Amino acid sequence: MKKSPLFIYTTRMGSYYHLTPFNQQTLNLDTCLLSAGDFLHMENTLKLLQSETNISFRQYINQENKILYMTSIDSYKMKCVEGSSNKDGVKIAQLEGIKPMTNQQYIELAKTINPEMLVSLTEKLEIQAGQKSTKRSSAKSAKFLKESLDQLKDTQISIYGAIQGGLDTVSKIIAAEEQKFAIDYPNFKGFTLFGFNQGSTWQEKEDALSVVQSVFDGYNVQYILAGYGDILSILWGLSWGIEGFEIEEPFRFAQDLKVLLPPKFDAKDSELEQFSDDKINFYELEGKKINYLNFPINSDVKENVPLNPECQCFSCQNHTKLYISHLVECKEMNAQVLLTIHNTYQYQKLQQKLQEMQNKKQLNQWIRWYLQFL
Ligand SMILES: [Zn+2]
Repeated sequence: MKKSPLFIYTTRMGSYYHLTPFNQQTLNLDTCLLSAGDFLHMENTLKLLQSETNISFRQYINQENKILYMTSIDSYKMKCVEGSSNKDGVKIAQLEGIKPMTNQQYIELAKTINPEMLVSLTEKLEIQAGQKSTKRSSAKSAKFLKESLDQLKDTQISIYGAIQGGLDTVSKIIAAEEQKFAIDYPNFKGFTLFGFNQGSTWQEKEDALSVVQSVFDGYNVQYILAGYGDILSILWGLSWGIEGFEIEEPFRFAQDLKVLLPPKFDAKDSELEQFSDDKINFYELEGKKINYLNFPINSDVKENVPLNPECQCFSCQNHTKLYISHLVECKEMNAQVLLTIHNTYQYQKLQQKLQEMQNKKQLNQWIRWYLQFL
């Protein structure tokens, strides 16, 4: 992975939620998640772009110099990929509704987009899927992965398989075993892990992750956690060896007029020494939650102070709760813009801190120190 932890920020049609190019500059995000369904209807435009202009796809979506990550599953859409009886493809949500897409189309789209990271095509299972359909979906995902690895072997694209199967350990093992062949391919880098977002316990998540990791024990396999990227899942995942995280939470929070208020990130060495450096156990996360401030639509937040007086983000440095309340009340979208900037800035600070603690080999100690304030 280019950076650890890698935070992969989700986009809609290649642009970050609420953020204009000007806003983006202040944040300087280095990754960009592209959902395949957003681009399927644009096949003709993309072809014209290639054949009749000098504009690259990256320039077209204004995302130059970013790590592009392409996936078929979009957690923001309720039902982004549906099962299909066609063994060569799935049904995928696009601008024009849910339509079939073959793996061949998916691979062609990947060639056009040319992302640094590609998650191979996969079907999202129904939550109550039986063993039979789980097996069928796993076999399909494995087939799609093999086709991607073969057909994209002459590109610079790093390919990730998709591990589905909810949190059911048997399904997870089946999915992992089916795709184990991939470790022999030089362009294979690891797996994106799905199904860890449902309202389940930390113990269930720990069990599901452990069985996947046991299948690849001793191999160099990178893991990416799909989904919203809430802060607790990031802390847990990183402690357990997951290095990449799909991130949607800062945008989602802003959409719901919520301001992230995580506690401070800086700890003294003397404070860290009292904590163990072992992996974080599921019970240490139980009952923990990240604080946020909620702006009601008829906002009663009238304070003439920043969202968070200690925050160095553009919003907190230049605007007050009073002003943002006003924006909320008159339904001005700048409220979401300013909240997105603040929330995303918090994620960037967190990412820097986790990276620093990893380099100092104090990651788990720091997580334990941090958890005590939650
Ligand atoms: Zn701020």
